[in-house]
Amino acid sequence: MKIPSALLNSLLNLKGFDNEAFEKVHQSGEQNTSIRFNTGKIPAALQASVCGEGFEGAGISPVPWSTNGYYLSARPSFTADPLFHAGAYYVQEASSMFLEEVMKQSTDGTKDIKILDLCAAPGGKSTLIQSVISGKSLLVSNEVIKTRVAVLMENITKWGAPNVVVTNNDPKDFQRLPNFFDIIVVDAPCSGSGLFRKDPKAIDEWSEKNVALCSGRQQRILQDVLPALKEGGILIYSTCSFSVEEDEDICDWLTKTHQLSAIRYQLKSEWNIIETTSPETSAYGYRFYPDKLKGEGFFIASFRKGQTGNAPGPEGKAKEKWERLSSKEMEVVKPWLKNGDDFFYVRQHEEVIALSIPMEKELALIRSALYIKKAGVKLGAIIRNELIPAHDLAISTIISRDIPCVEADKETALQYLRRQEIKIDPASTGWLLITFQQIPLGWIKALPNRFNNYYPKEWRILNR
Ligand code: SAM
Repeated sequence: MKIPSALLNSLLNLKGFDNEAFEKVHQSGEQNTSIRFNTGKIPAALQASVCGEGFEGAGISPVPWSTNGYYLSARPSFTADPLFHAGAYYVQEASSMFLEEVMKQSTDGTKDIKILDLCAAPGGKSTLIQSVISGKSLLVSNEVIKTRVAVLMENITKWGAPNVVVTNNDPKDFQRLPNFFDIIVVDAPCSGSGLFRKDPKAIDEWSEKNVALCSGRQQRILQDVLPALKEGGILIYSTCSFSVEEDEDICDWLTKTHQLSAIRYQLKSEWNIIETTSPETSAYGYRFYPDKLKGEGFFIASFRKGQTGNAPGPEGKAKEKWERLSSKEMEVVKPWLKNGDDFFYVRQHEEVIALSIPMEKELALIRSALYIKKAGVKLGAIIRNELIPAHDLAISTIISRDIPCVEADKETALQYLRRQEIKIDPASTGWLLITFQQIPLGWIKALPNRFNNYYPKEWRILNR
């Protein structure tokens, strides 16, 4: 693996950069695999045993700066693990998991907040954010590129939480919601030098010209979205690039041209994360070098927006409310949920959606300003006083555990996920949740002489 010399030369005088070790770790062929558990599905106490069984005994060790993140000693076939499809964990690069620490050190996790993940697909940071915020907080997970929204929706649906909204908007569209979000995360598109080990093809696309292009684009994105951040709110900015133009120089630009002050974090020395300061304004930033820690190249910095005390909120008229369910209809859906009173229920295109109660007012504003692709958890359609349950409900974290289940072994679970015929012995007929290690995978309908497999066609495992 030949790292571009222009990149190496640009890094020579940076704090913490060790040219020899950096080149060596890129030549070593070493690959790290890490996952982060979904505590909505696998609580901390069960994570170790699930790791043991699910990853065929591959050794695991915790990611030092993460509560639910683990390194796996070998890369298993995730496609062949039913728990992967069930949203029990997300495969995420370890350095990125430091976002948890940044959020914990800069905000009060018990407060209910509104947070925007602006560049969200495929959903790694959004799933992490959802696990860190309170259950009554609201996460808007946005992706501007249409073709990348489907994978984001799939990952958010599998994560299963009722307090996430997925939107498909350009950063400047968020100016329709001035001073609205408590936190904005911008995990910016970048030149990608931090991921050379994972994706060696990225080396061929790297050039100084592209670094300059990315840096300009990062400024435009930040400039466009910053009005949507509340006064006193927090901007978190990250890249997977080593280039100063995309990292510390952006921090300088932010502190010079916007009313922002950089936040400093407490680091444990054994993490080997390098704290840097930007050349002009000494804004703090955090660099992850793959020769110093078990993770890929990453940069993160965060800032607090200044207070003028007179910033106006969103002016737009809230869209009229979604159609609410009648109390009779609510009685139909509530038994399907763990805590049915914790939600409000609306109908959209014949389907019922459950949303966290505190979100109603904010959602009306978001609906007036943005293009919503998905909100909360889709429960299904009510037909003749019965719920025809949606797949989203089956794999959500809000489903009642009193719903009849049938536990599958691994082979049967994989057959189900391929949408093949399955052979099991259910105790009853009707809608049944098929589970693997007690985690729901989806619906089957048991008829007297056969089962119908309701796994979504577009998500099925192909060619296995
Ligand atoms: N946060 C994601 C995660 O953790 O899974 C990864 C995000 S990736 C580094 C950057 C994202 O920015 C991509 O999804 C890309 O489609 C999006 N993007 C590209 N150009 C953009 C633009 N001009 N404005 C906003 N987002 C953009």
